[in-house]
Formats: sequence, structure tokens, C-alpha cells
Amino acid sequence: MNVNRTTKTSIAIVIMLLAGAAIVAALAVRHDQAAVAAQQAEPAVAAPVPREVAGLTPGTRRAYLRAAEAAETDGVEMHITSGHRTRKEQLAEFQEAVDRYGSAEQARKFVLPPDKSAHVKGLAVDVGPRPAAAWLEDTNGKYGLCRIYTNEWWHFEYSSRYARERRCPPLKPDATSVP
Ligand SMILES: [Zn+2]
Repeated sequence: MNVNRTTKTSIAIVIMLLAGAAIVAALAVRHDQAAVAAQQAEPAVAAPVPREVAGLTPGTRRAYLRAAEAAETDGVEMHITSGHRTRKEQLAEFQEAVDRYGSAEQARKFVLPPDKSAHVKGLAVDVGPRPAAAWLEDTNGKYGLCRIYTNEWWHFEYSSRYARERRCPPLKPDATSVP
């Protein structure tokens, strides 16, 4: 009798333990499913910086992205053909220009050395295609981006002053006027 009761109690305990384990397992599965669902539904906390604006100063990046969005609204597709350049990249471009144009002085009309380049400072964007550059030039500094040189329709530089004054400075003939 006593043995029988102990056996029954043991069986009851085992059943309870099994039931408990089953509940824990079921909860674990639900937890996993919930975690997976949460992961799938989770929006990106911070959108990654688009590659074409990587390396630009925050002001330049914001200005360009706002301008590109406004251009798109106007049905104009704009993209950056050259944004931030490292000193090394700029030096390579400058040396290539020296080879092409025959002297550093001639090369400077088209490409500045690294210590002068607004591209190295993250303040310049070359935009394309041409209708997009024309669109941006027409904004006359509204987004803080202005065309700088007569001989480079694609080259724009950022300054908060342009946006504040809502106008661009007069064009310079070429980059040789950069001190
Ligand atoms: Zn440029």
C-alpha cells in the first residue's frame, strides 16, 4: 500500500515534470518565433550612408541629398560622378592631368592638388548628367550648392552661406584662381 502510493506519487511527479518541460519547450519555440518576427519587422535604425555621399561633410551630404530629392520631384535624375576623394586619389588625378596638359600650371585649370581640392575636404560634388547639373545651377544656392567654375559645369561646392544668402557667387574662369 505504502509502496503503491509512493509509485503513484512518483508517476505524478514525472508527469508534472514532463508537462512542465513541454510547456517550457513550447514557450521557447514561441519566443524564438517572436524574435524572428521582430527581427524581420525591425526597421533600420539608421539608414546606411549612400556610397556616393560617403566622405562628404555632413552639411554637404545633407545639401546634396535634399537637392537630389527635389530634382527627382521635378523629374530630373541626378547623381554624383565624383564626390569625396582621398588625398592619394586627388594626387593621382592631379599627376594624370599634369601628364595630359604638360605642366602643373595647365593641369590646375582642371584638377587641383590635394591640399587645395574641395573634393578632398568633402565640400565638392561633381554631378551628372548635364541636365541635372543645369537644374542644380538654376537653384542658385538654395540648397547650399553652387557651381564654381566656368570650365566645369559638373563641379559644385557646398557652403552654408550660399543657402543663407540664397545666391551663388560669380563664376571663376577655372581653378587657377584658387589661391
Ligand atoms: Zn569637381
